[in-house]
Amino acid sequence: FLDAAGRAKTMTGACVDITDLWQAREALRRSDRQKDDFLATLAHELRNPLAPLRTGLHVLRRAADASGEAKKVHAIMERQLDHMVRLVDDLLDIARISQGKIALRHEPVALHTVLEQALDVSRPLMEAQGHTLEWEGADPHWQVVGDATRLVQVVGNLLNNAAKYTPSGGRVTLHAAEDGEMLRIDVQDTGIGIPPAMLDRVFDRFAQVQQHLERAQGGLGIGLSVVKSLVEMHGGRVAAHSAGPGEGSRFIVWLPRAQGPQADAAAGEAIA
Ligand code: ADP
Repeated sequence: FLDAAGRAKTMTGACVDITDLWQAREALRRSDRQKDDFLATLAHELRNPLAPLRTGLHVLRRAADASGEAKKVHAIMERQLDHMVRLVDDLLDIARISQGKIALRHEPVALHTVLEQALDVSRPLMEAQGHTLEWEGADPHWQVVGDATRLVQVVGNLLNNAAKYTPSGGRVTLHAAEDGEMLRIDVQDTGIGIPPAMLDRVFDRFAQVQQHLERAQGGLGIGLSVVKSLVEMHGGRVAAHSAGPGEGSRFIVWLPRAQGPQADAAAGEAIA
């Protein structure tokens, strides 16, 4: 509330000068912008050496064919490089999202293609973890409007998390369904679960339920915040459910289904 002198009153009745509040808010915004700019620069600088590193590794692979030991070291280096590329890409995305610089394509996309491609992304991790994957497929006529690459990233991220946070030999289920005007994608696992108090927070930037040292798989805690932003940019929403630790987790994404002529044209193309 403002008093006669234009000062703001706090809940306890103390008076604060409104210009102080305004300046504090501006300072916060400025430091937020600086942080986003720093993040973007950092991600770019980290990304630059990764491409030549990958080329170098390809060249070395040929030389490594001769020796079993070299092959093993090479495979480890490739896995670590992939991991680093994913982390840096996530950082870049978060910076672009904060700066409003992410450009999405806007075209009809078949949901089943998105889900199949996301499964391809996550298959190596699923297999490495010895998980069983349940997937019945989706109706080929179900369409959404958006950016196929980004949608594959969304579902791939949820599937990778399901694989990561489920002890070896678990079960991951991918399911697609109609839900009124929306299409629903469910990713369910039999893993470590999420405590109720953390369910809303897992979509926050840098949120991690487990302490870093307890986690077998490293990460920055930004994958789900990128997922949430991308889904919302597509006009959808996302939710997390879990009955608690040890009870598995379920992530649900709703996306508006393509309507009218756009969907018909896309369905025609899919069938032709
Ligand atoms: P990261 O996996 O890099 O830590 P994310 O943003 O993808 O970051 O996830 C944030 C946190 O949410 C994770 O650290 C983990 O604690 C929790 N989480 C995400 N997916 C699952 C899942 N399927 N089961 C249990 N916990 C999960």
